[in-house]
Amino acid sequence: MDSDSDSDDSADRNGNTGSNGNNTSPGSTDLADATLALSKEEMEQRRIAEGFTSLKWLNTNSTPKTNEEIREIQMSTWKSSVYGHFEHKPKIIIHTKSGKKMYIFKCQKPGKLHRRTIERARNHTTTTNLRKHEQRCTGTTTKPLLKYSRKLLRLKLAQWCAKRRWPFALVNDDEFEEIMQILWTDVELPSSKTISCNIKEFKLETDKNVCKFLQVYALH
Ligand SMILES: [Zn+2]
Repeated sequence: MDSDSDSDDSADRNGNTGSNGNNTSPGSTDLADATLALSKEEMEQRRIAEGFTSLKWLNTNSTPKTNEEIREIQMSTWKSSVYGHFEHKPKIIIHTKSGKKMYIFKCQKPGKLHRRTIERARNHTTTTNLRKHEQRCTGTTTKPLLKYSRKLLRLKLAQWCAKRRWPFALVNDDEFEEIMQILWTDVELPSSKTISCNIKEFKLETDKNVCKFLQVYALH
């Protein structure tokens, strides 16, 4: 259920599967029937060409099922209670550039984040973001909310850059500053040099100590 499979960019939309109608042999009716039922391998090739995660998303003649049919198939496998927090059927959207199919889950429960939406790629099955929303919405999140302070932001940015290998220079981007300002009008961003120095400091600490370090600062 919660396998974090985050790369589904294998979809080859060129459909290079070749033609299946290779009826060169002289036509007995038996053979003609046999060509209708595709072999497992052929179906598998079709599945990969469509970028589908399941053979069930194909009809027996290998044509793709409709987006609505695929959604029904997927919904029948969703057992986690978290789906009950959202409207029964997620909306299907197709990204114009990539053609990627997404599901939009809309919060249906009264709560802080009522009617907020969570987007998830159709090929994904992870419920992490849905659960995070539910916890925030119902106020059952176990993570304490951090309060803004210059020092905490500096340390969090350093931790983020170090952990995810982001370039320190991202803090110099105008767009990054604008996003931060949306969240906190008077935000003061550290320089990339400061981030770099912080990361060097972190290297001297174990992960555990870094957590303690951050918790202490979070209280100030
Ligand atoms: Zn909600």
